[in-house]
Amino acid sequence: MTYQSDICIIGAGPTGLFAAFEAGMHGIKSIIVDSLPFAGGQCSALYPEKPIYDIPAYPSILGKDLSLNLKEQADRFSPQYLFDTKIISYTQNQDKSFTLQSDKNQSINVKAIIIAAGSGFFGPNRPPISNIQNFEGKTVHYLVSDKSMFKDKTIVIAGGGDSAIDWTAELAGLAKKIYLVHRRDKFRAAQHTVDKVFNLAKQANVVELVIPYQLHGINGNHGVLSSVSVSSIDGTEVKNLEADFLLPFFGLSTDFGPLKNWGLEFDGFHIKTEQSTMQTNIDGIFAIGDAATYKNKLKLILTGFAEAATAVYQIRDIVFPGKVFNFEYSTSSLA
Ligand code: FAD
Repeated sequence: MTYQSDICIIGAGPTGLFAAFEAGMHGIKSIIVDSLPFAGGQCSALYPEKPIYDIPAYPSILGKDLSLNLKEQADRFSPQYLFDTKIISYTQNQDKSFTLQSDKNQSINVKAIIIAAGSGFFGPNRPPISNIQNFEGKTVHYLVSDKSMFKDKTIVIAGGGDSAIDWTAELAGLAKKIYLVHRRDKFRAAQHTVDKVFNLAKQANVVELVIPYQLHGINGNHGVLSSVSVSSIDGTEVKNLEADFLLPFFGLSTDFGPLKNWGLEFDGFHIKTEQSTMQTNIDGIFAIGDAATYKNKLKLILTGFAEAATAVYQIRDIVFPGKVFNFEYSTSSLA
């Protein structure tokens, strides 16, 4: 399949989504590609239930709500989305346009590229269970994209960090039963959510703390889970928890993958950019957000928003060569 657009934005995190909005404001069509099955990048994948306090004009906003709002703002201009898709390579054509290739054998023809890829695509840190891959994507999930699948189900959540605690609190109102398995009785997560989960475990019979225990094995057939076995830390005791789903939250690794071989200049794990334009060392390829670096760079969402606007202003000249632009506020251009 071949797609056409003015620009390709790699990454549907907060900065990629805002870049799509900025592009739309200037009449630039965009296609946004993300390896995750949903929008929002780190905010949706890593801390959907956490309040963010430093987004201007929001005294506090949850990661998932910021993602939803940014997508709604971008959707005003109907960008195309390709989720569950990784960009792997590009070629530059004679007319300086680009053709990108995805891991799903799609080609995307565009005039410029914005890399808003954060620290790269996410991969799970798998627990050491030999047959786990047979269940992945069916009854074992490392990220939650659609919580409705857990309605009235029994879930084993494993881990001791924010994701394990946040999702236990979030799914407690939906699931039939949640077993929270952790090796220790202390959690490395926001204290108010830990308290909430401990209270839930005391009050109702939905949440049951299985601590200190560790994952031992999973049982079932053809990707359908029947139970999860857990063992005591010294391994002397093993018990089976009947369950429909297992959510192991042991952190996610990130990797720029093939982008590292694009000829871009890196400073450590970040792409070097010219701060006044967000241009990389390759003409027509821009980088913004966590992916981009320059002197005194602040890795904050609000910095990424400004970088998105800066990149799009430069890209106008590539998409509409020779056109003279006057500076306009959204209050007049979108009125
Ligand atoms: P990301 O959010 O990382 O999104 C990048 C997207 O690109 C990902 O969805 C990834 O799947 C996709 N991608 C990568 N490579 C490819 C590829 N080759 N093909 C397709 N898709 C690809 N910041 C704040 O400003 N305030 C806070 O309070 C705050 N709290 C935080 C709390 C936690 C727990 C964490 C982990 C981070 C926090 N941050 C905070 C940091 C903030 O989340 C990041 O700065 C922000 O998400 C960066 O946005 P981004 O769009 O640049 O990249």
